[in-house]
Amino acid sequence: MTDYDITIVGGGPSGIFATFFAGLRNAKVQLIESLPELGGQVMALYPEKTILDVPGFTGIKGRNLVEHLDQQLAEMDVDVKLGETVQNVARIDTDFKIVTNKGITTSKTVIVATGVGAFTPRKLAVDNATDFEGTHLFYSVKDLEHFRDRVVLVAGGGDAAIDEALLLETVASKVYLLHRREQFRALENTVDRLYASNIELITPYLIRALQLTPADQVQVTAKKMRTEAEMTDLVVDDIVVNYGFSAENSVLDEWTVKPTGQRGQVEAQLAGVTDVAGMFAIGDVSTFADKQALIATGFGEAPLAVNAALKYIDPNNRGGMHSTSLKLKH
Ligand SMILES: Cc1cc2nc3c(=O)[nH]c(=O)nc-3n(C[C@H](O)[C@H](O)[C@H](O)COP(=O)(O)OP(=O)(O)OC[C@H]3O[C@@H](n4cnc5c(N)ncnc54)[C@H](O)[C@@H]3O)c2cc1C
Repeated sequence: MTDYDITIVGGGPSGIFATFFAGLRNAKVQLIESLPELGGQVMALYPEKTILDVPGFTGIKGRNLVEHLDQQLAEMDVDVKLGETVQNVARIDTDFKIVTNKGITTSKTVIVATGVGAFTPRKLAVDNATDFEGTHLFYSVKDLEHFRDRVVLVAGGGDAAIDEALLLETVASKVYLLHRREQFRALENTVDRLYASNIELITPYLIRALQLTPADQVQVTAKKMRTEAEMTDLVVDDIVVNYGFSAENSVLDEWTVKPTGQRGQVEAQLAGVTDVAGMFAIGDVSTFADKQALIATGFGEAPLAVNAALKYIDPNNRGGMHSTSLKLKH
């Protein structure tokens, strides 16, 4: 007997909501996530950021959104497996064999929700950077309170860097934003909020060296771009670098059965249908014309893919019921 109707690979927002919805539709479902906690990019990269474009919330902190998703998921009888990576997916007749670092299960369908895969932040290219990591140098704001009443330098010029600088401004005694260009590459609204803030801009500069002072602060040497000029009088308590992140979705390439796609992404239709029968893809990992890699997009794709998976299992399955006509645990 097949263990599961649906296996969802990846516990980011798309995978969590798909698992909830599959539970709502009474499917036997497992969610497999390689990290020790659910939440994908939101928890790993920007738990403290206020997200403005999630339907139903005027603004919600990343970690609070994931808490809500977790609570919603807890209403369902589903198997959630954390710290487990799907290393291979193969066929056994019409079923799938799901191979992880912890065991083997079988599933009638698979929904790939691996997002951008395993992600690592782009590091500060300074010789002794690792000496400061975790004490004075950070690649995301995991604990806002750490920065209370401190002088913080944020490095980077995209949406995430500016969002972080604006967030830090709410607790820090002083925030600098250092960017190697004069212009910021971010949403107009984000840049407007930056210019309206008290954040001190240092452009166009690039961090070249860090040195610990006797007062346990960091003296930053920064080079003015396209000149030989150097700034050496900047002393801060903490540095938050946000140069983006590099993503590694190559684990998908190792699967025996895998849908067509390029650079770790999967070509899919809106309902997640791929060119492998019974395998669907949602969220950031899936690509189609005009796709936007947003949380709301993944939320929209999740029920469509779950319904398509159940229809694949049983073509007579009607699907598409409202949650009020389905049974919750409580
Ligand atoms: C700094 C930043 C700010 C952002 N701000 C916003 C915003 O304001 N609004 C918005 O809508 N979007 C925002 N986004 C984008 C949003 O985070 C993504 O669109 C969303 O996280 C995609 O969700 P997902 O579930 O598809 O993938 P992910 O969040 O990437 O989750 C995928 C999960 O799959 C797991 N996984 C991967 N491979 C395997 C495997 N083989 N086995 C098991 N597990 C696996 C990963 O560990 C990960 O947890 C932002 C992104 C970043 C980086």
